Amino acid sequence: MGPVELGLPALRRTGAPHAGLPADRPADPRLVDTYGRVATDLRVSLTDRCNLRCTYCMPAEGLDWLPTPQVLTDAEVVRLITVAVERLGVEEVRFTGGEPLLRRGLEDILAATTALRTASGAVPHTALTTNALGLARRAGRLAAAGLRRVNVSVDSLDRARFARITHRDRLPDVLAGIRGAADAGLTPLKLNTVLLRGVNDDEAVPLLRFALEHGYELRFIEQMPLDPQGAWSRTGMITAEEILAALSASFTLTPADPSSRGAAPAETWLATDGERQGRVGIVASVTRPFCGDCDRTRLTADGQVRNCLFAGGETDLRALLRAGASDAEIADAWRGDMWAKRPGHGIDDPAFLQPARPMSAIGG
Ligand code: SAM
Repeated sequence: MGPVELGLPALRRTGAPHAGLPADRPADPRLVDTYGRVATDLRVSLTDRCNLRCTYCMPAEGLDWLPTPQVLTDAEVVRLITVAVERLGVEEVRFTGGEPLLRRGLEDILAATTALRTASGAVPHTALTTNALGLARRAGRLAAAGLRRVNVSVDSLDRARFARITHRDRLPDVLAGIRGAADAGLTPLKLNTVLLRGVNDDEAVPLLRFALEHGYELRFIEQMPLDPQGAWSRTGMITAEEILAALSASFTLTPADPSSRGAAPAETWLATDGERQGRVGIVASVTRPFCGDCDRTRLTADGQVRNCLFAGGETDLRALLRAGASDAEIADAWRGDMWAKRPGHGIDDPAFLQPARPMSAIGG
């Protein structure tokens, strides 16, 4: 079987880069929208490629990767991040993918990002979402380039099961990567897990035990309809409620102060088994959506701004940039895209349409 076609050309364009900003938009330089939200957290996808093939994210044979000329160069990525931080009020930059460690220029992009200053004169906060393959070797260099924190995705602690889920027998490398990141001071280190019914849904407790033992913060992510195979179903996914029920059988869970959550996607609890304690989170995007507090804006590896994971359209900053647009023009196009952000992702809406781009081509 050949690679799966993404159908990317069918995307609707939300931004009208040359038409100026909407008349009803206030003269606010930040990334404001019509619902009063302000995006300060930028997710940058550095590649759509990945070296794992998690069943819920990518078919075993891979996808039709973005052709290299369409992918932003390091200099182009840095220019767009600079516009975001210096003109649009972005304070936090998280690098993702695909697998961001596959991007050779990652350290240089990081160093250029941490050389910037936000509107308040601070160094932008930087983070990486990664599968940790190769992280053991690179964590020191990444920390030296200014990286502050990492989230490592790991869906099973059982080697054979990990290999079945990811189609690669790489659990020992992932665990080495996690240790390497912690040793390099990239803490608090977070682990991300997607539970799949009948596959790894019996691992909620062992994964939390592992996290508490090592001082990592575990976060369960509800599976979202972003797989290219279109196999997601509302009844098939494991819900936050099920995860809480499973954890409550072995741990005492106390809700963390809700006022401390802010725009964080995870709802958090203090968990203890009587011996160890720590924090556990659930990102319940489907059953307990938090769109009203969303502060995110996304840049894909091919230079498209998306105002939501589930956005039906995007704004082509790469075309603007390569046509010689000024930073001010690029900033306005970005502002225009964010102004059009919908109130919510609409997964529960009968008219919901899964975006044409899968998670790996948006940046999770
Ligand atoms: N390769 C990196 C990694 O493994 O973390 C970054 C990209 S990956 C797409 C980011 C996160 O998205 C991972 O934790 C992955 O498990 C999660 N993910 C992928 N597809 C998902 C889906 N359909 N629903 C929820 N989470 C998903």
